[in-house]
Amino acid sequence: MDLGIAGKTALVCAASKGLGKGCALALVREGVNVVITARSKDALEATAAELRKQATAGATVKIATGNIATLEGRAAALEVCPSPDILVNNAGGPPPGDFRDWGRDQWIAALDANMLAPIELMKATVDNMMKRGFGRVINITSGAVKAPIDILGLSNGARSGLTGFVAGLARKTVRNGVTINNLLPGPFDTDRLRATVQVQAKASGRTPDEEAKNRAANNPSGRFGTPEEFGAACAFLCSVHAGYIPARTC
Ligand code: NAP
Repeated sequence: MDLGIAGKTALVCAASKGLGKGCALALVREGVNVVITARSKDALEATAAELRKQATAGATVKIATGNIATLEGRAAALEVCPSPDILVNNAGGPPPGDFRDWGRDQWIAALDANMLAPIELMKATVDNMMKRGFGRVINITSGAVKAPIDILGLSNGARSGLTGFVAGLARKTVRNGVTINNLLPGPFDTDRLRATVQVQAKASGRTPDEEAKNRAANNPSGRFGTPEEFGAACAFLCSVHAGYIPARTC
C-alpha cells in the first residue's frame, strides 16, 4: 500500500534506538524526510547513517541533539525541523519504583518528559499543520495508561494526563486534516523493556532471562513485539489513509 506521505517531513523524537527508531525507519522507507532526536550525538549519528541506507524516494535524514524534556532540547529540534507535517512524540520512560520513594522532583521530571514535552511540541506545530490541511501527531505512551503497572506509577500518572489533554485537542484539529493519536505499546523488545525486566526479576526472584521468557510466554502472541512492527503501525497512522482515525488510543 502506498501510504501517500513521500516528501512530507517528520520530527521523530527520542529515536536513536527502540520504538522511536522503529517509527523513523518506517517513515524513511515511505520516502518521508525525517529529523531524529536523542541526547547522545554518537548514537544519533550512527542511527541516521543506518536510516539513510533504508531511505526511499530521496528522503533525507537529519539529526537534532538534546533532551526533549527541556526547553533547550525542544528548541534544538524545532530549529532543524520548524514545521513538520508529522510529529512523533517520544521520550524515555520514568524509572520504576515504589510511590513512597517519589517526591516532587521525580514527579515533575516524569511530567516534563511524558506529558508536558509532547504538549509543548504539539503547541509549536499543529497550527501550521492545520493551515496546510494535513498533519499527523503520534504520541508514544504506554499500555500502562489502560492497564496500569504497579511499579510504573510515575508513567501511569504522567501519561494519563497526556491522554486526557490529547482527547480534547484532537477534536479541535481533525476538521483541518490533523489527527492526533496515541500509540500504547505493550511489551516490545527494546533496551527499556530489558531494564524493566531486570527490576521485575529482582522482585520475583527469577533471573532476568527467565523473567523475560516468562513475560513473553504470558503475552497472547507468546513473544515480545519488535520496533519494526511498532514503526509500521505508526507509519500507517501517519498515512493519508488514516484521516478518519482522529483520536485513538491504541
Ligand atoms: P529505549 O529503547 O530505551 O530508547 C529510548 C530512546 O529515546 C533512545 O534513543 C534515547 O536516546 C531516547 N531518549 C530517551 N530520553 C530522551 C530525552 N529526554 N530526550 C531525547 N531523547 C531521549 O526505549 P523504548 O523501549 O523505545 O521506549 C520508548 C518509550 O516507550 C518510553 O517512554 C517507554 O517508557 C515507552 N514504552 C516502551 C515499552 C516497551 O516495551 N519497549 C512499553 C511501554 C512503553 P538517548 O538516551 O541518547 O537520549
